[in-house]
Amino acid sequence: MVPFGFHSIKSKITMFALLATLIPSLAIGWRSYVQNRRFLSQKITQELQNVTSQASREIGLWLKERLLDLKVFSSSYVVTENLAKLQGAGAGQLEQEPALRGLRDYLGSVRAKFTDYEELTIVAPDGKVVASSAEQPGAVTMPDGWLERARAGDAVLGSPHWDEGLRAGVITVSQPILGADERFLGVLAAKLNFRGIVESLSGDSPSGISGFYLVTRSGDVVAGTQPLTAGSARTALAAGVASRLFAQEGVALDSSSPGGVEVVGTLRKVPSLSLGVVAEKERRTAYAEIYRLRRTTIWLVGGLLLGIGVVAYLLGLTIVRPLDSLISGAAKVATGDLAVALPLSSRGELGYMTEVFNHMVEQLRLGRKELDEANQTLRQRNQELQELSVTDSLTGLFNRKHMWETLARELETYKRHRRPLSALMIDIDHFKRYNDTQGHLAGDEALRRLGEILRSSLRVSDYAARYGGEEFLVVLPDTDSATGAQVAERLRELVAGEKFGGGPGSPKITISIGVASTSEHEEEPETLVRNADTALYRAKKAGRNRAFVFEGGSGRPS
Ligand code: GH3
Ligand code: MG
Ligand code: MG
Repeated sequence: MVPFGFHSIKSKITMFALLATLIPSLAIGWRSYVQNRRFLSQKITQELQNVTSQASREIGLWLKERLLDLKVFSSSYVVTENLAKLQGAGAGQLEQEPALRGLRDYLGSVRAKFTDYEELTIVAPDGKVVASSAEQPGAVTMPDGWLERARAGDAVLGSPHWDEGLRAGVITVSQPILGADERFLGVLAAKLNFRGIVESLSGDSPSGISGFYLVTRSGDVVAGTQPLTAGSARTALAAGVASRLFAQEGVALDSSSPGGVEVVGTLRKVPSLSLGVVAEKERRTAYAEIYRLRRTTIWLVGGLLLGIGVVAYLLGLTIVRPLDSLISGAAKVATGDLAVALPLSSRGELGYMTEVFNHMVEQLRLGRKELDEANQTLRQRNQELQELSVTDSLTGLFNRKHMWETLARELETYKRHRRPLSALMIDIDHFKRYNDTQGHLAGDEALRRLGEILRSSLRVSDYAARYGGEEFLVVLPDTDSATGAQVAERLRELVAGEKFGGGPGSPKITISIGVASTSEHEEEPETLVRNADTALYRAKKAGRNRAFVFEGGSGRPS
């Protein structure tokens, strides 16, 4: 079988089936992947938006409540009275001490009761810290000109930041302290810790949210689930992540969490604060469904390809097998081998083709048989023609033309090998008379009988030909004149003893024979025949029914 490689029908069918499976299944798989991903993205975005919007609102509310609380504390009798006392003109050490203690105790008790307040401080109008809930009061981080705004009676918000001393994200807020006569006595400033609100919010957020935190515009995480509950110190987002989140508020973005995990996250700004609340989902779990879908699709397509590939291969085999046997059958026929009969292994076009092929080979076989028979007949005819062309029709001996050819050939051999050759010229005696008395037909019969006698009494290597009407020439290869004379004598005796015509009263026939043999000077056919003829003439002259050998210009009796 010729190997067709990639061009074989089998490869092409397999290739086509694989492509026909791969292209639509990949297209459908890709489309469903994209749709699912979009759907899931929308779902995730919606969820993150809900969580962050809710949180942002609640933080705003929480802040408002804390400011209200602070306003209540700042207008507390304990605060205003004691602060008024301390600032009273000429207040002595004795009066100041209990007032200060009173303030400190009050701040301490508030601090103990409300865990969101990390540090409460009373600041005098000159900016000095009067009393604090902390042993070592920390720096008050407020916007420029905050004291003036407080003096005007406004609550003032600082900016959220990470307080290294408290190891927490805080915002410093303040409320003015006004005396009984609405005189500005100072401010009650408090560092508010975001931890509590964030923890309670994250506790409420739906499952699947992996990260939840508050972040400043510069990327500092001031409160959050994972980093702060893990007890770590200052945490920051990777460079650029915060600004991207702030720039695309409410959009679900692929980013990395403060812990470096790949996440999808959304930020919502907290009103009145330069803060954003971020909710995140781990991308691996968020898109688990999509990853599963992708895996399933890959397995499905792979399985389909394998299945279709096997089916296509088998289909290819059912086509190729009969084709292979057709091809090898045709190749055999091409080399001349017609003993081919293909098995009918399939139906359809190929089965039909196989039938046609077998029929075709059958016809070729018949054609060849007829041709062989015709050739055989032709050969026979040729042989018959050949025989006719060299045979005398009456006697069955060689004719005169063939005699000359044979004689010439024999003399050529003689010239090469110098082996002697003799020729006998035979003439029937008084044959005219025989014809006259017995009739021409009997004459013919006598000629035929004489041919038989010659043929049967000579060696296979000898030739007998009818030279003329009732004259015969016998050629004896490998025979010298002595032996030639003996043969002539034997023939003469045979003929003389034969009864021609068959009946008891049949006339006898005699023959006269002239014998000539090759010698150094006599080696041409014409010479040999002439010499034999000369010897025959002598024999006739000498009285007939005798054989004479030619001897240099005459013949002598043998
Ligand atoms: P001779 O002894 O001198 O040979 O006498 P002959 O009568 O035989 O003389 P010749 O050889 O001259 O005669 C030839 C005769 O042979 C003439 C003819 O009648 C006869 N003859 C030649 N060919 C045929 C033939 O084909 N058939 C028959 N029936 N006779 C033939
Ligand atoms: Mg004659
Ligand atoms: Mg004669």
